[in-house]
Amino acid sequence: KTQINAVSLGRAIRYTLARARTRGNEWDSPIFRLAQQQFLKAAQIMNLDDNFRQRLLFPERTQVVSFPFIRDDQQQVETVFGYRVQHVLSMGPTKGGIRYHQDVGLGDVAALSTWMTWKCALMKLPFGGAKGGVRIDPTGLSNRELQRLTRRYTSEIINIIGPEKDIPAPDMGTNEQVMAWVMDTYSQQMGYAVPAVVTGKPVVLGGSLGRKEATGRGLVYLVQAAAQHIGLDLKEATAVVQGFGNVGSFTVQFLAETGVKIIGVSDVSTGLYNPAGLSVEALLKYVATNRELKGFPDAEPISNAELLELECDVLAVAALQNQITAENAERIHCRLLAEGANGPTTLEADDVLNARGVFVLPDILANAGGVTVSYFEWVQGTQNLTWTLEEINQRLKAILLDAFQRTLHRAETDKLDMRTAALIEGVSRVTEAKRLRGVFP
Ligand code: GLU
Repeated sequence: KTQINAVSLGRAIRYTLARARTRGNEWDSPIFRLAQQQFLKAAQIMNLDDNFRQRLLFPERTQVVSFPFIRDDQQQVETVFGYRVQHVLSMGPTKGGIRYHQDVGLGDVAALSTWMTWKCALMKLPFGGAKGGVRIDPTGLSNRELQRLTRRYTSEIINIIGPEKDIPAPDMGTNEQVMAWVMDTYSQQMGYAVPAVVTGKPVVLGGSLGRKEATGRGLVYLVQAAAQHIGLDLKEATAVVQGFGNVGSFTVQFLAETGVKIIGVSDVSTGLYNPAGLSVEALLKYVATNRELKGFPDAEPISNAELLELECDVLAVAALQNQITAENAERIHCRLLAEGANGPTTLEADDVLNARGVFVLPDILANAGGVTVSYFEWVQGTQNLTWTLEEINQRLKAILLDAFQRTLHRAETDKLDMRTAALIEGVSRVTEAKRLRGVFP
C-alpha cells in the first residue's frame, strides 16, 4: 500500500533535522541522531504533523550534574558526571533505567529516554520515557564505593524523581542492590519508606517477582511468536547471544529451555563458539565463580565481530548500542534478530537486513519485558498488593504478544519493516495524547 520512496524519505528526514538543528541541540551525539532519524522515518511515513515532529525530537526535561566522589583508598576528590533525561511528560510519570558506564554521555541518555517513550507507548503503559546515567566504570568499584556513588547521584536528581514523577530502574551497570540504595536515599529524605520510587528492587523491599528475569523472559516469548510466524522450529534451531549480563544470561537460559541450541555467547571479556552446543548450566556456573566468560573450557574463543557473523537461526544482541552497522550488516547470517539491547542496529544496517529478509524484533518491542514488569512492580507498590509469579508472567506474555500482533499487522498491511511499524504504534499513541492535552498556556 504505502510504497516509501527512499530518496524523498531521506530528504524529509534531513529537512526536519536541519530545521531542528538551527535551534541548537544540546543532546547531539551519534546515538541520539539515530534515535531522531528512526523517529523521523516513522513520522514521515505516518505523515505526522510538523508541530509534533519538532516537539518530539527533543527531551522535555534534562538534568546534568557533576558531583564529588572519593574512592576507598584515596583522599583525592574525583568529579563525576551524571544525567537524568525525561523525554515525554504527557503520558504519566516518566520511566527508565539508570546506566553506569564509562562512556555514558548526555546524548546516549537522551537517545535511551526517547526509546523508552516509544517502548512504553507501544506496550500501552501509562508512562513517558526517561533514562539516567553516570559516567563511570562500575566494574572496579567496591560495594562501599558503589553505594556512595549511588547515594550522591540520587541526591542530585532527587527533586525530579518520585513515584508520581519519574521512576528509575536498573540498566547496564546497575542492579537490584543499586535500586535498594536509590530507594533508601529517597526514603531518608522523605522521612518514610517510599518503595514505589524505583522498580527492579529486591523482592523483600517491595520488588516484583519475575522482574529480574523479565527482559530475557519477554524476549523469548517474542522469539517464540516470531519463529512461529516465519515457520522456524525452535527445537531444531541454533542461537547466538551477544552479552551475558542480566538480559543476555536469562535470554540464554530461556532459549535453551525452549529447546534452542546455543552455539555462541559473549561478554566484554570474550566470545565463545561451540557448534555442538554450549551447556548453559556450565556457562552460568563458570561465570558465577570467574565473573567473566574468558577461559571457559568447552568452547573456542572468538572475537565479538566473529560472534555476530556466525551462521545461526536466532541472533540475540543483548550488549551495547551500535553493533550492527553498514560495515557488518551484509555478514549477519541469522533468520531472526532479537534486540535485547537498546539501539544495537543503525539505520543503514536496517536497510541491509530488511533487503536480505532477516526478521527483526526491534528493541522497543524485544526488550520491553523489563519495563512491563517494572510497571507491574509500580502498580503493586502503589496499591500495596502482590501478584504471584504466574500472574506476572501471564500478564507479561499477554501484553507483549498483543504489541507483537499489532506491530506485525501494521507491518504487513502497510508493507513496513517491524521497527518502523513498532515506532508508528508508539508514536501515534503519544501524539494522540499530546493533541488531546493541547498546548499550555
Ligand atoms: N532499563 C530497562 C530498559 O531499557 C528497563 C527500564 C525500566 O524497567 O524502567 O527498558
